Amino acid sequence: MLRGRFAPTPSGAMHLGNAKIALLSWLQVRSAGGVFVLRIEDIDVQRSRPHLIQSIIDDMKWLGLDWDEGPGKGGPYGPYTQSERLERYEDALQKLQQKGRLYPCYCSRAELLSVAGAPHGLASEGAPYPGTCRALTQEERAVRERRKKPAIRFALKDEQYTVQDGIAGPHSFPKGSGGDFIVKRADGMYSYQLAVTIDDAAMRITHVLRGDDLLDSTPRQLALYEALNLAPPRFAHAPLIMGEDGHRLAKRHGDLSLSFLRSTGVQPQKVIGWLAFISGLTDRPEPLQPSDLTSGFELHSISKTPFTLTQQMNRELLES
Ligand code: GLU
Repeated sequence: MLRGRFAPTPSGAMHLGNAKIALLSWLQVRSAGGVFVLRIEDIDVQRSRPHLIQSIIDDMKWLGLDWDEGPGKGGPYGPYTQSERLERYEDALQKLQQKGRLYPCYCSRAELLSVAGAPHGLASEGAPYPGTCRALTQEERAVRERRKKPAIRFALKDEQYTVQDGIAGPHSFPKGSGGDFIVKRADGMYSYQLAVTIDDAAMRITHVLRGDDLLDSTPRQLALYEALNLAPPRFAHAPLIMGEDGHRLAKRHGDLSLSFLRSTGVQPQKVIGWLAFISGLTDRPEPLQPSDLTSGFELHSISKTPFTLTQQMNRELLES
């Protein structure tokens, strides 16, 4: 049974880019008669805004994208909100610790930034971690421990990962891609990489479809699956919607949140039809229900080209 999920972070209002990913992952599941999970990724408490959780739920319902397990539905692998799953992440850390795959890192942000500018850092993080704290002796750790609470890093093996991506195609990552990464921050918060891996495995997710801004993080997750003897899901990374400034769509692009579209009286079928069109699933942006798109849905029909949303299109979308 195919199990897929949509895993939004409630740090900003759901916008058209998020809706595209929600629609495509819903279609992947519904076209295969599978189970669709909605998981709220609110692990970063500083960035999460609780009132947005309800807004995401309302947006999903408005679009007609229903879920089988998740908020309001429950399910066998809940809770479906990350802030309620912290002990599971701690258990996983214990296992990784026993396998000798973790080490404390005392580097300051300033020290890490001083190596920025190396050529192949993950775009969102700057340079790969140079491994400074990996080989510290017990004595060196003890000295640093007195001065600073450490973050916990996962020690990558010198291994090359290749993903058979359902949309992007085969993709190989350089060995040690991105460097040893943080699984628990110094302030006690578990990282996205750890939480997403533990949750996808625990929720028996077989197929992950998400934005291609997360393609770079896939080898880290594969390394965690491997270290924990868990079977990884199949991955598919869909191109994001870009704003005219060349950056991916975000709150700063203004009136593109679904709650705004909703408030203007735009019909959800218009949004679904437009998302299907820009994803390469239809020839024209005609109004559609999500269920109109399930028959014959294939991952390889999804356009691989990022789509740029112009002001003109934005205006057209708002004309009801
Ligand atoms: N929570 C992540 C986001 O909203 C998505 C995580 C994932 O799909 O792996 O960007």
